[in-house]
Amino acid sequence: MKTIAIIAHDGKKAEMVQFLNENRDALQSKDIQLIATGTTGAKTEIAGFNVEKLLSGPVGGDAQIAAKVAEGLVHMVIFFRDPMDKHPHEPDIFMLMRICDVHNIPLATNPATAKLLIQGI
Ligand code: PGA
Repeated sequence: MKTIAIIAHDGKKAEMVQFLNENRDALQSKDIQLIATGTTGAKTEIAGFNVEKLLSGPVGGDAQIAAKVAEGLVHMVIFFRDPMDKHPHEPDIFMLMRICDVHNIPLATNPATAKLLIQGI
């Protein structure tokens, strides 16, 4: 069983849903479990996926995902970052990316990379 964490900033949520739809077969495989930050998870559910929803990003969802990465419970992070916006939880975002690097966990920060990671799973 592999757990994939999904996070999308508000400006990237539409692209995230498009990505889910384009990779539905791989992401709905019985070996894959999805977790997501709160609003991203709600949109993922509406798109028809089973997903464990954590807190919304700005109130600690990214930090929760980072903790799970550190504990070895997450095997890939797909993070649709919006580089054109400011985020109140910037420290959590950088912490999550750092923890992925510390633990050598694949981290995609845009749809093109996410596509390559999903193809490689
Ligand atoms: P959200 O959080 O899925 O609750 O919108 C994402 C984020 O902004 O990090």
